[in-house]
Amino acid sequence: MDSVRELKEAFSVASGDPELVRSQLQAFGRQIPLLYFILMVNTIAVAVTHYRFAPKWVVVYTPAFLCLICTIRCVNWWKARHRVLTHEHAVSELRKTTRLASILGAGFSIWSFTLFPYGGPYEQAQVAFYMATTLVGCVFCLMHVRAAALSLLLIVVIPFTVFFVSTRQPVFVAMAVDMMLVGTALCFIIHIYYLNFSQLVQSQRDLLATQIRTQTLSDENFRLASIDSLTSLPNRRSFFSSLAELAQQQLAPMHRFDVGLIDLDGFKQVNDVYGHATGDQVLSEVGRRLLTFATPDVLLSRLGGDEFGIIVKMSRSNDALVALAEKICEQLSRPYWVSGNVAELSGTIGWATFPQTATTVEQLFERADYALYFGKESQRGRPVIYSAEHETRIRRASLIAQELRRADLEAELYLVFQPIYDVMQQKPVGFEALARWQNVPLGQVQPDEFIRVAERTDLILHVTEVLLRKALAEVHHWPASFCLSFNLSVIDISSLPRSQRLLDIVSLSRVPPSRVNFEITETALTRDFEQARGSLALIKEAGCSVSLDDFGTGYSSLTYIHRLPFDQIKIDRSFVAKVDADAASRNIVKSVMDLCNNLELRCVVEGVETQSQLDILRDIGGVIMQGYFFGRPMRAEAIGTYLAEAAAHLGHPLNPAGVPQPAGTAGSAGTLAPIGLT
Ligand code: C2E
Ligand code: CA
Ligand code: CA
Repeated sequence: MDSVRELKEAFSVASGDPELVRSQLQAFGRQIPLLYFILMVNTIAVAVTHYRFAPKWVVVYTPAFLCLICTIRCVNWWKARHRVLTHEHAVSELRKTTRLASILGAGFSIWSFTLFPYGGPYEQAQVAFYMATTLVGCVFCLMHVRAAALSLLLIVVIPFTVFFVSTRQPVFVAMAVDMMLVGTALCFIIHIYYLNFSQLVQSQRDLLATQIRTQTLSDENFRLASIDSLTSLPNRRSFFSSLAELAQQQLAPMHRFDVGLIDLDGFKQVNDVYGHATGDQVLSEVGRRLLTFATPDVLLSRLGGDEFGIIVKMSRSNDALVALAEKICEQLSRPYWVSGNVAELSGTIGWATFPQTATTVEQLFERADYALYFGKESQRGRPVIYSAEHETRIRRASLIAQELRRADLEAELYLVFQPIYDVMQQKPVGFEALARWQNVPLGQVQPDEFIRVAERTDLILHVTEVLLRKALAEVHHWPASFCLSFNLSVIDISSLPRSQRLLDIVSLSRVPPSRVNFEITETALTRDFEQARGSLALIKEAGCSVSLDDFGTGYSSLTYIHRLPFDQIKIDRSFVAKVDADAASRNIVKSVMDLCNNLELRCVVEGVETQSQLDILRDIGGVIMQGYFFGRPMRAEAIGTYLAEAAAHLGHPLNPAGVPQPAGTAGSAGTLAPIGLT
């Protein structure tokens, strides 16, 4: 049964495998011209040699008719050679080929047998030879279509054998037997060839499938490696490769492109207050909002954390860039509703332009980063384009860093002290120490400048230690109830051992820790909340107190303050400056004071400069104040005079003239006043 099925299969077109059918048709198509060439040339040759012996219908018309069929078939094939066939069409084409092979095989065989009786023994032998060689040639050409090759073989070999055996001529009988044997061998060869061919097709298919799988996998890996999984934006790696590619393309200086770095303001607080899951949701929402700006010319990426990158190809002008950036900032500052909470953030963007401000990718990124840094300091939530002013600042900062490194800090750093005033008691209750640096090449450098530079190098640790020792040395000369307020930078509380170093300095100074208050700015806390909390706890444990400085300039929320062990909040002077002109500032100051009352924190109002500010602040409940109105920062040597005058005015109503202004205010050499009012 099996062999019958196999036999049937061998003579039919295997239609179940489209790939095999397509390959068969393709391979066979390439042999068609050769097949018909062999067939027609051999036929014409036989017809020509028999021309003298046989009638015209045998040597001219019949072969001409058969050759016409062959030619039509060839032309049809030529015309359709580029046609893309469906599987059904391809199968029917193969079946047609099989049928045609049988029909033409039979037609040419019958014609050959008809021709045989004409001519002498040579011509007869030529007919036999023609049939055998043409058959072998055609079978080889049909090799890829097994059914056609086998059908042709049977249709020619069997009649050939019967016909030539029946001639009883030993030569022809021998040829018939020979033909039988060759035919049988060809059957096997065709079969084996066909099996190999289908295996080859199968393995090619497997190979292709493996290649596709590998390609898909590698495409997916590439996608994953260049996409940020949280926001689905391209990631840092992708950002830098796009940047490098662009820089390569834009070597012609005609075209500019811009790089923007976005940093979210207030994101750390969201993470700290609501947890990382909420933080992640905010980041994906930021990603969604940013994606709305993506165009083929605006590429957005997440560089890590809460930092994002923008590349604007072919931007036209700074104005166009600012317009785009402002729209982005506006989007980012809309409220974020996540997990039942509403988070308020903003995004600051630093821009740098290629090739105007930078000629390498690294420089471009660095400058955009600097513009961002500048923006974070002075204009949060807005775009900043890197400019010549930033260039000057960078130069100045590197000069400061250089001088700071080689300076004798012990000799060059000194402190000025600004009184902290109690308006109820009408007397100062302490001093805030403010750093100054007198350097020969640079002259007088303000803390805003050198503290920041020192923070970027580890020099700040040494700076703080020198200043703290000097400040504590002064406390011994003050009244016993007076406290020292000392500013710390974020690096000073970035690890427990560093904070401990400061406490060791306090204890070595023999100033009671209860008289030392450390001030930490709000922005400093945003860097590493948990670490800051640990350090503050350590400082409190040692008996010192801690203040939140510059309150209102960052993104502190009530919860945020509540989770840190502060004793005191200092309201930033930017609110006080407008307190007499602007009801909103007044309300803010009032609510911070109420907040302090509720949380049982002391509240210091900074930057009081005028009588009217003082009056308003006192009306809304302000008690402890600081500012030029009560005293400018003064040299240590001037404190004695200041305190003496303050004592003399005790009980008198306060006015600018009544508040003692020491001779040795900040920066001046100061006059040596009697010290020892303790
Ligand atoms: P701060 O801690 O907020 O210090 C108050 C600043 O405001 C001082 O500036 C002071 O001179 C100024 N100021 C005080 N009263 C008034 C006023 O009525 N009106 C105006 N317009 N300004 C007033 P200064 O000394 O230039 O210090 C700037 C900042 O540098 C400080 O701000 C503080 O953050 C930082 N700083 C100063 N000394 C140190 C230090 O020893 N260590 C650290 N880490 N930072 C310091
Ligand atoms: Ca301060
Ligand atoms: Ca302050």
